[in-house]
Formats: sequence, structure tokens, C-alpha cells
Amino acid sequence: MCQEVGHAVQLALSRRGLLKAGAGASLAALSLMLGGAPVSALAAPPSTGDGAADFDTRLILLGTAGGPAWFPGSSRHGIASALQVGDLTYMVDCGDGAARQLATALLSSSPKANPFQLLEPLRALFFTHLHSDHVVDYNNLLLQGWTAGVGRRLPLEVLGPGPRGELPPVFQVPGQPRAEPEVVFPDAPTPGTVQMTDGIFRAFATDLNDRVRDYLWPDLRTLVSVKDIALPTIPGFRSPNQTPAPDMEPFMVWSDANVRVTATLVEHAPVFPSFAFRFDSEQGSVVFSGDTGPCQNLVRLARNADVLVHEVIDAAWVDALFPPPQDEATQALKHHLLSAHTSIEDAGRIAEQAGAKTLVLSHVIPHNVTDDRLRLASRHYSGRLVPGQDLAHIGVGRRRGAGA
Ligand SMILES: [Zn+2]
Ligand SMILES: [Zn+2]
Repeated sequence: MCQEVGHAVQLALSRRGLLKAGAGASLAALSLMLGGAPVSALAAPPSTGDGAADFDTRLILLGTAGGPAWFPGSSRHGIASALQVGDLTYMVDCGDGAARQLATALLSSSPKANPFQLLEPLRALFFTHLHSDHVVDYNNLLLQGWTAGVGRRLPLEVLGPGPRGELPPVFQVPGQPRAEPEVVFPDAPTPGTVQMTDGIFRAFATDLNDRVRDYLWPDLRTLVSVKDIALPTIPGFRSPNQTPAPDMEPFMVWSDANVRVTATLVEHAPVFPSFAFRFDSEQGSVVFSGDTGPCQNLVRLARNADVLVHEVIDAAWVDALFPPPQDEATQALKHHLLSAHTSIEDAGRIAEQAGAKTLVLSHVIPHNVTDDRLRLASRHYSGRLVPGQDLAHIGVGRRRGAGA
């Protein structure tokens, strides 16, 4: 059977196959060619733990590793999460391997799905910030997704930070003054989400023009609707370098019939803007911290949330990187590393302050931190703790059929 499916995929992807099928050169026709094929033969769907299938709102951890590094042999992919509400899927961040993880997750929800329609349920993608470990698979999601139905039902909505507007300061270690490095692309040194997406399309123009002309596929640009998130007026905000995360109230970012999405600025200086997002559905609420040090804006956003997905760094690992004795410069560097992220125990404190019912630890640094160490968050947290693992499915809020 695997051989038959493989042959069908090859046939469908070849131009000759299209013409032979007389199907017209559209992606819809491609999908029809695999009608009835057991796609589950292409990849084994992961098990759905935790009874998550009994919930109409489900969180899926696509990737749980933090940082722009490969860890060969690690079971963790780059940071990305998906929220399924009814038959639609919302994605937060798109780290290394996220596109393929999303396809795997959607296949597990719908084992008989056609591979050319697999990404049709993907309604929106939200970027917390534009560090590479959160966006590096975006081009993959768009280009591979083109074949997998991305934006076919409705254009895929992509929302993320706008341009930073000014360059971050050069990090200065006490006693070791550094000169300004050369600016990369001084004409547009801090692009936002719209400009980044345009850059991807431009970089792949050869492929886009080939497939639009030779396969008669719809222009990929028309399948995606991209917006920079506009910041509200924030009292106390002066500039990205002076006040990257001033005290503020959450603000509305997006909504549809399924979810209402709000955001706040979090402490990930010098990155700006760096967002946390909250999704409220009829059944429950999930908050994604993005990358942040301990942050009261996040506590406000996550107030009484059903699930808080929080980033985490093992401070003991950072300590081991900088063994004593530490001079002033080393202490400054270590502080710099820790202030942009949250230690395991502080993640527990933040979840407790917010009154979040479940704390899920993700964006784990380093990748090989053990679940036992992650459970240290429970020292300061009385709710349910879930050390995050890739492709874990977690039910959110009210179980299907339960009363309001
Ligand atoms: Zn990160
Ligand atoms: Zn980051």
C-alpha cells in the first residue's frame, strides 16, 4: 500500500500526471488524485495522550526547544505551538521543523486527510517576536504548505511584530568597551513581519514564477494575508531601547468566530516588540509567554487562564557555563542572559501569581534538561504542571459535553 501511495504522490506532482488526469492544473485537482488513499501510511500519527481528543479546544506542542541551535539526537524541535478550536488551527511561532510537525499533528487529528489539503485548517499564524528560533521555518511553512493546502479555504492570516524602528544598543561589558559593528542592510535594518514575508517571497521568486506559470498554481502571495501588529498608545512608553516592556493592559489583536486573541509586551530586551498572546475560546483560555524574563504584564495577561505555556531556562545550566570565580564582566553577561528568560522556579512563581490552572513548560533551554528538573517549578506553583514534550496534546478548559 505504501508503494501505491508513493506512486500516486509522484504522479500527482508531475505535470504529465496533471494533464493525463485531465484535472485542470489546480491544487484542488491534485488533491482529488489521492482521494481515498490512506495517508496514514505516509507517517505514523503520534498518540493522543491526556484525553485531549475529548476537548473542543486543544493545545499541541509542535516544538519545545528554545534557542537558535541544533542539538543532534534531541527529541525537541524548534519552538512552535498549535491551538485547535473546532475544526480550525491557530499556530504560535514557527521554529526549526515546525511546518513538518504541524503536518504531523494535523494528520494525527485527521488520519484520512489528503496530503494536499492537510494545512487547510490552518487559519492564522502569530509570531511572538522575530528572533530566528521563532521564525526560521516560516519559509518552509509557506513553500511546502503551498502544496499542502495552506490558505486554500481562506487566506492564512499572519500577524507579528512590526519594524523595531531603531537598532538595539551594542551590549557593553563593564571595562571592555566595544565599537559599533557594521550595520546589516542599513536601508532596512529592523524589518517587521510584513517586510520579512515580502523578503521570503522575493527570495523564492524563481520557484513562485515557475509553479504559477508551469503548474498554473494560484499565486502563493494571494493565499497569505500578513499584518504587522499595531501597538496601542501605552502610557510610559518612550522608545524600544528605553522602555521595551512598560507596564500596560492587554490589547486586542485578532478575533474570529472561534477565538479572541489579546497580547501584551514582555521582557525580552533588546528585542522589541516581543509579545505574549492569550487565546480565549468558548471552552477555555491559553496563554503563550513568548520569550521573556519574569514579567508582570504576562501575569496580567494570564490571569486565571486555563493553560499558561511558559518559556524556561535552567539557571543551573547557565551557572555551569560561567563557573566561579566570576569577574564583573562575566556577571554582567550572565545577568544579560538570565534577564531575557525565566528560570524554572520563576516560571512556577509567575504561574502561581497569575492563578493559571495548568502550567506547561516549553521553549526549554537547554534542550536536554530533564523532566525532574522542570518539575522544580512546582516548588512555587500549586496548579497542574506539565513538562512540555513535542507533539503532546493537552485539552483546554471545558471537556466536550460538560456544562458551562
Ligand atoms: Zn527563543
Ligand atoms: Zn527570543
